[in-house]
Amino acid sequence: MKTPLVAGNWKMNGTRADALRLARGIYHGMKNLHRVEVVLAPPFTALATVAGVTTKSKIRLAAQNVHWEESGAFTGEISPKMLKESGCQYVIIGHSERRQLFLESDLMVARKILAALNTGLLPILCVGETLHERQNGKMRQVISRQLRAALKGVGENAIDKITIAYEPIWAIGTGHHATADQVRQAHRWIRHCLHQLFGKNKVMENRILYGGSVRPENTVELARVSEVNGLLVGGASLKAIDFLSIIRDFAEVKAGVV
Ligand code: PEP
Repeated sequence: MKTPLVAGNWKMNGTRADALRLARGIYHGMKNLHRVEVVLAPPFTALATVAGVTTKSKIRLAAQNVHWEESGAFTGEISPKMLKESGCQYVIIGHSERRQLFLESDLMVARKILAALNTGLLPILCVGETLHERQNGKMRQVISRQLRAALKGVGENAIDKITIAYEPIWAIGTGHHATADQVRQAHRWIRHCLHQLFGKNKVMENRILYGGSVRPENTVELARVSEVNGLLVGGASLKAIDFLSIIRDFAEVKAGVV
């Protein structure tokens, strides 16, 4: 398995000055942190600013969204090439807020995945069920549909470029993270779907992250789930001290230190 990955999704928060402060705080706090890959996803307007900090470090930069076309009359959109040019290595695709608030369909997610791969960006593909779907026993069905659709055009040779984030919608921003058992079951199911789609050997290295109300207080519990290869953190990534604590605890559990 690759190095564990902890990503911070800053969503639509902060000015460029805030982003610079936060990125610098994380950069300085990371000096003694090893065996973990850290990814920051600031708003588009702060990408170049944060890149100024991350290029000198092992921190990676991500965008929160992308359009699938290279250029053209798509007011308000941003292309994969523009993200590359701004210093991004990763891009978050199919976040539930994009799917729910901006009506992104499985087809749009699939197009974005291919466009990102074709441009050399590493997708972090988000999947996850609503509370209603979970209560109706549909978690597995929803996740396999999302994975199958999003990864439809991805060839065997490109699947290793993709990170999956399991983000149960009912856990995002609610303060109620999924229990260790719920996370374990969902991650096993995602791994099983990947095996079915691409064969066991091709997806051994793919990381599956958990996201949904990750906080410093629950990081150790989540990290102890062996099926969890990383975290996608929203709210708690906006405070350097909290995010650094999450990164440190996660890395230490995975390294067997605690
Ligand atoms: C997210 O939006 O990806 C997320 C996990 O948010 P939060 O950590 O705030 O629940």
